[in-house]
Amino acid sequence: MTGIEELSETMEQEDFDQIKISKEQLTEATKFSQNQLRAMVDMYYNLQKLRCGAANKKRAHDQQYDTLFDSILMDVMKDRLFEMELKTGKILETYVKSKPLGQWALSITGLGAITVASLMGHIDFSSCCCEQYDGIPRKKRPKHNCPGLMYGSNIHSFAGLNPNQVWEKGQRRPWNARLKTTCWQIGESFKKAFSVKKTKMDDKQLRIALYDAAKAKNKILTEDQLNEKMIKEKKRLAKKVESIKGEEWFYVRLYHNRLIYENANNEAGKYKREAEKRLALYKKVVKSAEDEKKYAEGKKILMSGKLTPKAIEERSKRYAVKFFLSHYFDVGKSLLTGEPIERAVKPWIIQHGGHSCYIPPPNFPMK
Ligand SMILES: [Zn+2]
Repeated sequence: MTGIEELSETMEQEDFDQIKISKEQLTEATKFSQNQLRAMVDMYYNLQKLRCGAANKKRAHDQQYDTLFDSILMDVMKDRLFEMELKTGKILETYVKSKPLGQWALSITGLGAITVASLMGHIDFSSCCCEQYDGIPRKKRPKHNCPGLMYGSNIHSFAGLNPNQVWEKGQRRPWNARLKTTCWQIGESFKKAFSVKKTKMDDKQLRIALYDAAKAKNKILTEDQLNEKMIKEKKRLAKKVESIKGEEWFYVRLYHNRLIYENANNEAGKYKREAEKRLALYKKVVKSAEDEKKYAEGKKILMSGKLTPKAIEERSKRYAVKFFLSHYFDVGKSLLTGEPIERAVKPWIIQHGGHSCYIPPPNFPMK
C-alpha cells in the first residue's frame, strides 16, 4: 500500500507522484528527531482536516446551502492545502522508508506511510515502564538506567487497546489519542484488504454483483461486456486469493480467522455478559425517537444475548492490531539492540515461560 490510499479517497496516485520536493528537503526529512517526526505527523493531520473543511465549505456553496463564501477562493484554498498535505505526506514517506523499522512495517499489507510515521513518532522505545515508578508522571521520575519498553503489551496500553483500562473522571487520559486513532485505521485496513464475500460467490452471484456495481456508476453493461468483465474479475480474485498466502498478508489472515472464531463464540452465547453490559450503556446513548429507530436492530441483537456483527468485527480488528503492535515492538527491539528476534524478545519468553508458542513477526529479517 502506498501513502496515497490513506491520503484521500478522491485523489489519484498521479497527484502523489507529481509532488516535487527538493532533494535537500527530503534528506532533511530522514534526519528528523522523534519529536520532529511527531510534529510533522500532527501537521499532516491538521492540514488534512483543514483541507476537508475547505472542501465541505465549497460543496455547501455549490449546493447552495451556504452562499456566504466565495467558491472560487475556497477552491484555491482547498488546492493549496491539498498540495501542502501531499508534500507533508511525501516527507513522512521519505522518513519512514529511510528507517529499517519503517521499511519492515511498510512491507506489511494494510500499512501505509502515514500510519507507520504515526507509529514511529508516537512509540518511544526508551520510554520508562519500570514498575516501581508506576503512577509517577514520566517527567518526575528520577534518572535511572532504564531498559525502556519491556513488553509489547506496554504499547497496547499506550494505544488504548488494553480492555482493563478505564479513563476515570478528572484523570489524565491513560492512552495516546492519536496512536489510538492510528491503530483503529490499521485495523480498518486489515479488514478492507480482502473481501472473503466476493471470493465465495458463484458465477451467477458474481455476475449480478458486477452488473450492479456498474449500474451504480450509471453504466449498463451489455452481455459481451459483462462476460469480459467476469473473466477479468475472476482472474483478479484468483490472484488475490493466491497473494493472501504471502507473509505480508499475515495480519489480514489473522483478522479473518479471528472473525470466524469470534462469530462462533458469539453464536454459542459466550458474550452474553458483554452484551448485557452494552445493553445497559445503550440506554444512555438513545435520547430521541430517531435514535431509537437507528439502534433498534442492534438492541434486538443485544437483547438476544449476542453482540452485533459490527462489535464482532471490532473485536477481531483489535486482536489483529494488537498482534501487529507486539510484532512491531519485537522488530523494533531487535533492530535497536542488534540482537536476533528470539533474543530481543527474551522478556516475553521469560514472562510466558518457554518459547514454543511464540509466533515470530512475518517478513523479518526482511528478504
Ligand atoms: Zn524506567
